[in-house]
Amino acid sequence: MKQVVVIGGGIVGISCALSLLEDGHAVTVLDPGAVGEGASWASCGCIAAGEVVPLSQPGMLLKVPGWLLDPEAPLSLRPSSVLRLLPWFTQFTLNSTPFRMRAIADDLAKLTFRATDDLRAQLGRYEVRDMLVERPVLKMFDDDRDKATMGAAFDLAREMGCTIDEISGAEAHEMEPAIAPDFQHAAVLRDWSFVADPRRMVIDLHRAFVARGGVVKPVAGTGFTREDRRVTGVTCSDGGTVPADEVVLSAGTQSKTLARHLGIKLQLEGVIGYSTGLSDPGVDLKHTVFYAKGGFGITPYESELAIAGTIEFAGENAAPRWRRADVLVKRAHRVLPGLQVEGAQRRIGRRPFTPDTRPILGRSDKIANVTFATGHGQLGLTLGATTGRLVADMVAGRAPNMDLAAFGPDRF
Ligand SMILES: Cc1cc2nc3c(=O)[nH]c(=O)nc-3n(C[C@H](O)[C@H](O)[C@H](O)COP(=O)(O)OP(=O)(O)OC[C@H]3O[C@@H](n4cnc5c(N)ncnc54)[C@H](O)[C@@H]3O)c2cc1C
Repeated sequence: MKQVVVIGGGIVGISCALSLLEDGHAVTVLDPGAVGEGASWASCGCIAAGEVVPLSQPGMLLKVPGWLLDPEAPLSLRPSSVLRLLPWFTQFTLNSTPFRMRAIADDLAKLTFRATDDLRAQLGRYEVRDMLVERPVLKMFDDDRDKATMGAAFDLAREMGCTIDEISGAEAHEMEPAIAPDFQHAAVLRDWSFVADPRRMVIDLHRAFVARGGVVKPVAGTGFTREDRRVTGVTCSDGGTVPADEVVLSAGTQSKTLARHLGIKLQLEGVIGYSTGLSDPGVDLKHTVFYAKGGFGITPYESELAIAGTIEFAGENAAPRWRRADVLVKRAHRVLPGLQVEGAQRRIGRRPFTPDTRPILGRSDKIANVTFATGHGQLGLTLGATTGRLVADMVAGRAPNMDLAAFGPDRF
C-alpha cells in the first residue's frame, strides 16, 4: 500500500483517486474548490467517444484576425494574450497538417472508444444512478455551406471508425420537435452520449470516495518536498505538507504551474468556455443538440437545460466575458424558437488544452513518482474514468493496456 496524493479533485482527479483506492492505496485528494464546480460544471456534458478530430484545423492562422476583431465569434482571442500565447499557438498550428491530424485522431480514438464502457463501469461500481444517458447527439446545419465546413472533420472521424448518419433538417425536427423546422441538414453522432448532470456526477463520485475511506483536504497544493528524483510530500496552502509515496497531478489548467515546481514545462492553456443553465426553458429536448455555426451545444440535464460552448483564448486568470455566454443564449433561439430564458445561471469553465489536443498521461523521465493526468481539453468528462484506470495501472507498475507513449509529459 502506498500513500498517494492526488492534486485536484475535478472529474479527472476524483476518477484517479477512486481507481487508486480500489487498488488498496491510502489516497488523499487536495482541492480548495467547491466539489463538482471544476470545468466540467460548465461543460456540454457529452461523453464524446466520437470526438477524435483535433482542435487545430487547417487554415486556422488565416482566421486569427477575425478572432481578434470579433469578441462574440464562436472562437475568439483576446488581444492582451497574443504574445503570451505565441509558443502554444505555434505548436497548435503545426498540428493542423493532415498528417498530424490523422495521427492525433488515431491516438485519441484509442482512448475515446473505450470511454463509454469505462464510464458505465465506474458509475455502476460506485452506484451513481441515472447518470449516463445513452442517446446519440444531433448536430444542426443551416444549409449546404454550413454543412460543408464539417466535411473534412466528418471524413476523418469516419476513417477512425466513428458512426455519423447524415439526415435532413426535417428528420431532425421529427426526432426533436422543439428544433426549428427550417434547418437544411443534420447529423446524428452515434458514438456520443451525455450525462444527466456533470456536477452531481463529480459530487457523487466524491461521496463514494470518502465513504470508502478516501480523504479530501480542502487546500491547494503549492509545491513539493523532494529527495533527488523523488517527491516525498506535497506542500499545501494551509502551511502543512502531506507525505507522499506517489503523486498524481490532476489540477486542470493549474497543473502547468505545479509542474514547473518539478522542472517540467507543460504546454497547457486554459481555453475558456461558457455555459448557461435554464431551470425553466419551456421546451422539451431529449438529445444534446449542437449548432455547428454557433459553436455551442444544448444539453437537457436532469434539472436544467444547459447552453454551453465557445472557445476563447484569454489567458489563465482572465476575467469572464459574460456577454459571450449571453450571445450563446440569444443564438440558441435559432435552434429552439420556443426557448424561455428566465432564471438563467451562467458559468465559466477553463478547459486544459494541449497544443496537440492529446491529454497528458504518464510519467516524466525527470521525476520518478509523479503521474500526470491533465490536459484533457474538450474531453475531460469523457475520459475521466478511462484516465483513472490508466493512472492506477501506472502507479501500481502494471503495464497499461494501451501504448501511452504519445501522451507523455516530456513531449513538449
Ligand atoms: C463549455 C465547455 C464545454 C465542454 N464540453 C465537454 C463535453 O461535452 N464533454 C467532455 O468530455 N468535456 C467537455 N468539456 C471539457 C471538460 O469540462 C474538461 O476537460 C474537464 O472538466 C477537465 O477536468 P479536470 O478534472 O482535468 O479539470 P477541472 O474540472 O478544472 O478540475 C481541476 C480541479 O483542480 C483543482 N485545483 C486547481 N489548482 C489546484 C491546486 N493547486 N491544488 C489542488 N487542487 C487544485 C480545481 O479546484 C478543480 O477542482 C467542456 C468544457 C467547457 C468549458
